[in-house]
Amino acid sequence: MGLVSAKEMLIKARKEGYAVGQFNINNLEWIKAVLTASEEMKSPVILGVSEGAGKYMTGYKTVVAMVEGMLDFYNITVPVALHLDHGSFEGAKACIEAGFSSVMFDGSHYSIEENVQKTKEIVKYAAERGISVEAEVGSIGGEEDGVVGGGEVADPMECKMIADLGVTMLAAGIGNIHGKYPANWQGLRLDVLKKIQEVAGIMPLVLHGGTGIPDQMVKDAIALGVSKINVNTECQLVFAAATREYILADKDLVGKGFDPRKLLAPGTQAVINTVKEKIELFGSANKA
Ligand SMILES: [Zn+2]
Repeated sequence: MGLVSAKEMLIKARKEGYAVGQFNINNLEWIKAVLTASEEMKSPVILGVSEGAGKYMTGYKTVVAMVEGMLDFYNITVPVALHLDHGSFEGAKACIEAGFSSVMFDGSHYSIEENVQKTKEIVKYAAERGISVEAEVGSIGGEEDGVVGGGEVADPMECKMIADLGVTMLAAGIGNIHGKYPANWQGLRLDVLKKIQEVAGIMPLVLHGGTGIPDQMVKDAIALGVSKINVNTECQLVFAAATREYILADKDLVGKGFDPRKLLAPGTQAVINTVKEKIELFGSANKA
């Protein structure tokens, strides 16, 4: 099966009360790992690509070609969406042209008026091509803006303004943070999530910063309408730890242990394991 928009898989998730994972990809090993895990778990999946990762993988066209080649090579049967993460206005258009099946336009740093205007344009451009669109309201906390402790929280009325533009899914800050959570983190603002769900109706909601949120809190968020959860840092941490362990055990010095296919194997397997654990937690196993 080729790439699909994220729309149907998220509407189904919203209706049936589970969440689809977005796992960010960085290279060939990452794509292999996420696709292998999702197929094994019979789970729909969203591959996330930041603009920086797109550049690293030598452009959006390379990413599309690599992912499509692998869908074919592995005979992937579960629905797979290729999604731009935190895209700029120009980046979103470039990804749609390169063959992505889903984009996020992140206008959260603009005024709400400008965010509405630009989101509307992307929605129109994407809808004509059958591409799903994620929009964002307010900003989600993270080290890039130096916010620690609470994380950003969105205004439910602004969420409604963006939700009404015909976007497929909506990301809204509810105290979540990108990267590792600080020790003094206050937890997700489930009260705010509830208000957002009340005004946004059946719109699938997106939780960014999925690394390190306690499992029960993740489940509570899913029960309140979160249908897509982004995981990035956690896969990077387990990949690095497994690679470190391999080298510290001097395995690269034994036989052909220096072969990149051997050197990167433990990290890749660690990503597979983490993706499978997340799919289990999010409830999307056997939902393909
Ligand atoms: Zn994010």
